[in-house]
Amino acid sequence: LTADAQAVVDEIESEDVDFLRIQFTDILGTVKNVSIPASQVEKAFTEGIYFDGSSIEGFVRIQESDMRLIPDPATFAILPWRTRDDGTAAARLIADVVDTSTGDRFVGDPRHVLRRAIRRAGDMGYTLNAGPEPEFFLFEEDEDGRATTITHDAGGYFDLAPKDLASDIRRDIIYGLESMGFEVEASHHEVAEGQHEIDFKYDDALTTADNIATFRSVVRAIAAEHDTHATFMPKPIAGINGSGMHTHLSLFTEGGENAFHDEDDEFNLSEVAKQFLAGVLEHAPAITAICNPTVNSYKRLVPGYEAPVYIAWSDVNRSALVRKPDSRTPAASRIELRSPDPACNPYLAIAVMLHAGLDGIERGLEAPAPVRENIYEFDEAKREEYGIETLPPNLGRAVDALEEDEVIREALGEHVTSKFVEAKRAEFSEYKTQVSQWELDRYLEKF
Ligand code: GLN
Ligand code: MG
Ligand code: MG
Ligand code: MG
Repeated sequence: LTADAQAVVDEIESEDVDFLRIQFTDILGTVKNVSIPASQVEKAFTEGIYFDGSSIEGFVRIQESDMRLIPDPATFAILPWRTRDDGTAAARLIADVVDTSTGDRFVGDPRHVLRRAIRRAGDMGYTLNAGPEPEFFLFEEDEDGRATTITHDAGGYFDLAPKDLASDIRRDIIYGLESMGFEVEASHHEVAEGQHEIDFKYDDALTTADNIATFRSVVRAIAAEHDTHATFMPKPIAGINGSGMHTHLSLFTEGGENAFHDEDDEFNLSEVAKQFLAGVLEHAPAITAICNPTVNSYKRLVPGYEAPVYIAWSDVNRSALVRKPDSRTPAASRIELRSPDPACNPYLAIAVMLHAGLDGIERGLEAPAPVRENIYEFDEAKREEYGIETLPPNLGRAVDALEEDEVIREALGEHVTSKFVEAKRAEFSEYKTQVSQWELDRYLEKF
């Protein structure tokens, strides 16, 4: 066993862990679990865990379905909501997936897609730091325990108790996250009723993607303990803000310097940062399919609700796709991508953001000038004058953009691209044939 793996084995012993969940995600970002008794952990580290990949979304065809999970010891964490009265606990480990027919990392494993992106950045001399701001709603459950869209509170942005009745739940969520090693930097009630945001510290790309996947399960599980449904659905209620997952990005050099910082620049952004930014803007339509992967995502990306619609960047306003946040130290110079929503697969989302930016650096792309006005208020003529394009208006168009973008297709690899496109095309065509309540209200009696 490696030293890291041995440390996990020791902790399992000292913390009385009896079961381990070995986790990975499918292409659509759903966390999958294989549970093993703690006595099997050494074998899991040395030999891996065999499972049948044919039943996992977007994994493999039936005839080539044997997969092996290799747990990553760095991801060991005790599940805070599963510590039992008798002192025993359950824990989890996140795994990489190996294709047993080749012995190589499985090309359909999102964690592998992200590792490839990280390697490309490494070859160029960079490490990505990513920090997300996930938002979510807390809703009441009905008598049968099913989720409603009724909120607990009438709180608004940064409102304090006693209006913020869900703050107890949020506090328990934060304790749970901290016990799993998260450094929670801020948490607050968001703009909409029932909406919350919890920000945890930025980290390297892989750790952050693992953290986002973990964060969603912790939030849901702890909310459920309070008979509350936490949802990361991007736009659960029409007419009020949806839930985003702004993502802060910067590249660091091997020497630990922030490659995005330039003291002398008006925005404190280096040439490298601006090229990265230009790459993100250029590939924005294609990466939208990954960062905003549901039909519902596009109900959030409309004017008027603090979500981006237009492909532009700004150092002052929040209507742009990319914002340059105020930064007080060189290490904090970064860009904030505001389009991602918390329904995305975090591994694929961070991978495509990174590849888009690296492409900008490799090709020496030039960033446009920042837009300082409120773009929501621009008419089409003004947008044309500024050369501002819009994000894809729906999932179908986003998938079109993904298919047309060689760089992003390559970022995902052929397997993930084709499985993702197939799943999303099916989702969008099913959606198109639905008849909504809005249509019935509007047309049923009128015609
Ligand atoms: N909820 C908004 C969104 O959809 C963001 C609001 C904010 O954090 N300022 O992105
Ligand atoms: Mg925020
Ligand atoms: Mg927010
Ligand atoms: Mg933000």
